[in-house]
Amino acid sequence: MEAIKNKRMPVYPISIAAKLLGISIPTLRMYEKEGLIIPHKSSGNQRIYSEMDLERLRCIRRAINESKISINGIKSIYSLIPCWEVVKCSESDRKTCNAFQSHEQPCWTFNHPNTICENRDCRECDVYEKYSQCGSIKDLIKNISGIST
Ligand code: SF4
Repeated sequence: MEAIKNKRMPVYPISIAAKLLGISIPTLRMYEKEGLIIPHKSSGNQRIYSEMDLERLRCIRRAINESKISINGIKSIYSLIPCWEVVKCSESDRKTCNAFQSHEQPCWTFNHPNTICENRDCRECDVYEKYSQCGSIKDLIKNISGIST
């Protein structure tokens, strides 16, 4: 439990995170702009990354470099995460939710006015934090289908 808490703790400024990942700071910023990552922001609005953020970014880098998936492709994959099954939103929430209709962007890149997600901190949400890590989308779908792994 302590180990998980530590992995979530934002500790790396953007320059160190970029160095650890072997990428440039503009690339890291671009991933954020595209909605692939939501870094923690300090009170002075500095981006700070956790160990879990670095794991997520390594997964994204592997998808791009080894599996040859484009950034738009990754966004489309994220858009397929069935957030409504995780959050258990209502039918009326889904009717007004742009994220529910999208096939192109992950739900955490949308505003969700008048839904259960309206004031949700996406960085803290299971949809972002737990189910968009490497390998976990398929596990979620298996769980929903009642298939034990
Ligand atoms: S993003 Fe929309 S569809 Fe997804 S859980 Fe929230 S309200 Fe429901």
